[in-house]
Amino acid sequence: MSNKIIIIGGGPAGIEAARAAATAGSEVTLVSEGPVGGRSGWHSLLPSKVWLSAADTAALMAESPFTGSQEIPTPAAILPHLQQIKNQWNAQQAAKLDALGVHIVTGLASFTAADSVIVKDNEGEHVTTLTGDAIILAPGSVPFFPPNLKPDGKKIIAPRFLSALKTLPASVAVIGAGATGTEVVYLFNRLGVAVTWIVDKFGVLPDFPPAAGELMADILVKRGVNLVQVERADHFEDEGDEVAVVMPDGTRVKAAMAFIAIGRFSDLKRLNLEAAGLAVAERQFPETDPFCQTSIPGLYAVGDAAGPPMVANRAMAMACVAGLHAAGANVAPFNPNSVIAAVYSEPQVAQVGIVTSDDDAIQTTRISYSTVLKTHLLPELEGFVELAYDQSRKITGGVAVGPHAGDVLAPVALAVQVEASLGDMAAIFAAHPTLSELAFAVARQA
Ligand SMILES: Cc1cc2nc3c(=O)[nH]c(=O)nc-3n(C[C@H](O)[C@H](O)[C@H](O)COP(=O)(O)OP(=O)(O)OC[C@H]3O[C@@H](n4cnc5c(N)ncnc54)[C@H](O)[C@@H]3O)c2cc1C
Repeated sequence: MSNKIIIIGGGPAGIEAARAAATAGSEVTLVSEGPVGGRSGWHSLLPSKVWLSAADTAALMAESPFTGSQEIPTPAAILPHLQQIKNQWNAQQAAKLDALGVHIVTGLASFTAADSVIVKDNEGEHVTTLTGDAIILAPGSVPFFPPNLKPDGKKIIAPRFLSALKTLPASVAVIGAGATGTEVVYLFNRLGVAVTWIVDKFGVLPDFPPAAGELMADILVKRGVNLVQVERADHFEDEGDEVAVVMPDGTRVKAAMAFIAIGRFSDLKRLNLEAAGLAVAERQFPETDPFCQTSIPGLYAVGDAAGPPMVANRAMAMACVAGLHAAGANVAPFNPNSVIAAVYSEPQVAQVGIVTSDDDAIQTTRISYSTVLKTHLLPELEGFVELAYDQSRKITGGVAVGPHAGDVLAPVALAVQVEASLGDMAAIFAAHPTLSELAFAVARQA
């Protein structure tokens, strides 16, 4: 029997939930505030990755033993390419939904009851009213800016302004040391911009084990980044051609441009969740069960809307479970321990699963990237891979800093998911020379 499922949000989570539910035979309507692709496809993930690939190209050319070219890609070359990839990728997502028979409604959805939403256009005009057997929330997240630290889109920018950055500043002060801040520091440094990195007391990449953040900070400082550790950035002051970031003790960092990326929270405010009977405090997110269902039966929350870690692959993994569950299909529960969180700088930083414990329950073993031949063929030799395992020698997680660290941890994510042991991993000798050897070599060391 087909049931009706409404999905709110057209980002990676909404698209994946729609795909899963439609494949399982449900009648699916996806409500998307803008064109399909979400913030990820139009404003954040995709644009930032195109800029990063330009930085990677600059690095490869500069550090190659064969070319040593100092040519740096310019915004004039990057922006048209970015627009082309945005159009191409988001059109591909929309076509995928179309082929599955997903009905797409453009507008902003808000609840009128637990099983129904009203959709309005940009002008607040009524578009349609929808009722479903299940509703999946996938409205994503919005950036957090304190009142004194708001971007103006000119001298003070944030991730979404990257799509329109027509000239590179001579210098930039980057506020924020999470994944986005780290990527942006890497990117501007590689593109020849003088970078001051304003990092608070939690240090670089506070959501990763300290060794990962410390190594990343060391590498970027060695490349010329000026890292300034402060209590916090307090406000901006205009300085003519420059902007000053002012700390609570009056210390100032001046640069031609400031970039701020200090956190995000779930975009739930506009949904009128009270009408659905779901209470969520300001800047919080709904609790969900292992099938991503909230306390209201038939109401699911997935992706950034369901809290951290806010990464697209987790969003899609949750959405797949929710879509299938809402459609009544058999599905295994969502496993947060097999989600890889990565930082897409060069080197990359990545982690998956459980990597520490307060007692001796979890042990770790580490190898250097230089253990495998492939690293010697790349510009960057520095880095490590760490594998974590429990007392029964089952793999529980891993951490990596180095080229393609996100890919290197893929077999570790699978090992966590299928509860593989160190012995299972140690038995595999991956293609040689490749970076995939790292995950298996570290298991052999243990
Ligand atoms: C700069 C940056 C770079 C990133 N890079 C990466 C990366 O490389 N890899 C990675 O895994 N993650 C990355 N992330 C995180 C990733 O973008 C998010 O985890 C991902 O977009 C979450 O997907 P989502 O579908 O939950 O939300 P979104 O992509 O935010 O999509 C939600 C959509 O729902 C719409 N919406 C909201 N409310 C309503 C409503 N009431 N009615 C209708 N529509 C609504 C929104 O407008 C939006 O279009 C990055 C984030 C940032 C900020």
